[in-house]
Amino acid sequence: MLRMQPFETHYPTTIDEAVTHLENLQGKAKLCAGGTDLIPNLKHGLHEPQAVVHIGRIKDLVTLEETADAIEIGAGVTLHNIAHHPLVLKYVPGLATAADAVAGPQLRRMGTLGGNLCLDTRCLYYNQTYFWREALGFCLKKDGSVCHVVQGGKKCVAATSNDTATMLLCLDAEVEINDASGPRWIPLPDLYKSDGADNLTLLPTEILTKVRIPKAKKNVARKEGFAKLRHRKSIDYPMLSVGVRIDLKDDKTIESAALIVNALAAKPRAIKLAPFFGKILDDEVINDIAALAQKRCRPLTNICDDPDWRKEMVSVFVKRAIANACGTHR
Ligand SMILES: Cc1cc2nc3c(=O)[nH]c(=O)nc-3n(C[C@H](O)[C@H](O)[C@H](O)COP(=O)(O)OP(=O)(O)OC[C@H]3O[C@@H](n4cnc5c(N)ncnc54)[C@H](O)[C@@H]3O)c2cc1C
Ligand code: SF4
Repeated sequence: MLRMQPFETHYPTTIDEAVTHLENLQGKAKLCAGGTDLIPNLKHGLHEPQAVVHIGRIKDLVTLEETADAIEIGAGVTLHNIAHHPLVLKYVPGLATAADAVAGPQLRRMGTLGGNLCLDTRCLYYNQTYFWREALGFCLKKDGSVCHVVQGGKKCVAATSNDTATMLLCLDAEVEINDASGPRWIPLPDLYKSDGADNLTLLPTEILTKVRIPKAKKNVARKEGFAKLRHRKSIDYPMLSVGVRIDLKDDKTIESAALIVNALAAKPRAIKLAPFFGKILDDEVINDIAALAQKRCRPLTNICDDPDWRKEMVSVFVKRAIANACGTHR
């Protein structure tokens, strides 16, 4: 049986109270929302916090509402509720699909949006027991000084595997961060950096409290789609997580579009689609977008299965995401 090291627990009921705990503990605490990522990681000895601050009792984190120009979702809303909420299904259906593709039903009922966006990066050489990691030799991300994925590498390339980030990045989402000085908003891309050992720009004294997704402009037809490569559709982490958002003008030409491929390295990969703006979204353009994405993505041995095969799959899953967006499932 895997045992956790002892730690103190705190159960704040307000954001201010939670922030105060984090301030007092100055980097020695871990936040716990649904715990579906944190608890296995504690059991594997990947974190050794002095305290765990459970934020599941904070009512202000479980709001989901519509404003004039956006949908705002509290960080504590579960993935199950996001996947089935009428406002999400109406305004951001791609997010509902992505949330519904995370893990399995029990985990989606516990797992939260904030926990998903702040999910620890994953690697075959990291998400293992202490015994396993010690036997192989520890690595840069925890307790060691080498990388087993990139020989001679000086930076960890463990993979982001959070499916809602894939879709929210396509949708130009922003996140609200709270600390002792109060709330501030940042664009979602600014939450991530390319160091797999520590891929969030959040400080240990900060909490992600809300996500804001702007509604589509009135003069465009928005298409959003998600597709995911994984072994078992019922539960597994992504081997590729692909999200696409395409805004079409009346004449069916692309006004703007975004494409994200996730589960590659420490940061979700944005594929720039500006060269396709102004073109009609026909088969030729779809093939060109898929080929461009495949060229730009370099899967590694950080997660399971052959990287060359996963690279081949990039174009397949980009086409599937676009087909899902356009309602022409392939
Ligand atoms: C078998 C299995 C399969 C899984 N498959 C997938 C999958 O396919 N796709 C996927 O995306 N995930 C998957 N997961 C991971 C996980 O279940 C989800 O990502 C879930 O959304 C995590 O949310 P949580 O609330 O449980 O996070 P927690 O475990 O509570 O927290 C995760 C991390 O985020 C931090 N955190 C939590 N909330 C906040 C906040 N508000 N502000 C700042 N930091 C915060 C925590 O400190 C911790 O480091 C899987 C997990 C398991 C066990
Ligand atoms: S990418 Fe390298 S350093 Fe990072 S967890 Fe994997 S083996 Fe460790």
